[in-house]
Amino acid sequence: MLELSTVVTAYGAVKAIDGVGITVSAGTLTAVLGANGAGKTTLLRTISGLVAPKSGTIRFDGTDIAGVAPDRIARMGLSHVPEHGGVITELTVRENLRLGALWRRDKADRATALDEVLALFPPLESRISAQASTLSGGERQMLAIGRALMSRPRMLLLDEPSLGLAPMVTAQIMRVLRGLREDTGLTVLLVEQNARSALSVAEHAYVLALGRVVVDAPAQSITAEALHDVYLGAK
Ligand code: ATP
Repeated sequence: MLELSTVVTAYGAVKAIDGVGITVSAGTLTAVLGANGAGKTTLLRTISGLVAPKSGTIRFDGTDIAGVAPDRIARMGLSHVPEHGGVITELTVRENLRLGALWRRDKADRATALDEVLALFPPLESRISAQASTLSGGERQMLAIGRALMSRPRMLLLDEPSLGLAPMVTAQIMRVLRGLREDTGLTVLLVEQNARSALSVAEHAYVLALGRVVVDAPAQSITAEALHDVYLGAK
């Protein structure tokens, strides 16, 4: 469904992504792991069109989307949940969720999407009229994912959803991601520093170091020791 080939993204002279090749098959959950500054966020921003790659191809359902505007990519069914979620704290939970479905014309369709998201994240239902600033970190992340789902994407890009969350809340979010894949066939690319959580739900994983893929393997086969070496720069 998503295929990157020799993608390079640079900020000035610094190559944050340096010839990355990644494949995400439809209906799978793929993790991208790596230490701080490895290039994970840049990778997602490049896929969703927020930064243009210097070279390489990015195919989404067969179409090359490298350098295409982010709103067009979103309309093609690829939804990006940025680091920290990007929730608008001045708005209520309901208003944030509505924003996710802004360009959907059909009212009934929007209402169904809202029901589905609230069923997926019950804590949001009881806080539906609350201002987003009053939500806990976990609720905010649920809102961010829920908002992305309101557009009924075919693929979700998630940037460190576990950041700053308690282990139990992280586990809850990972369970929802697994459920989404199993029940709806949603394709997910999950960027995480929290390798243990990501590997518990992913089928395949890539590890990035200094903008390059250094591990490309089934999630089950990746050991804590292997990751330890990569994170410390030994590989
Ligand atoms: P983190 O976990 O901190 O988000 P990351 O793996 O997502 O790290 P990136 O944020 O993609 O990594 O950063 C990769 C490299 O690109 C780093 O060296 C970083 O300093 C650099 N970089 C990131 N954003 C910019 C920018 N806007 N301008 C210049 N350099 C940047």
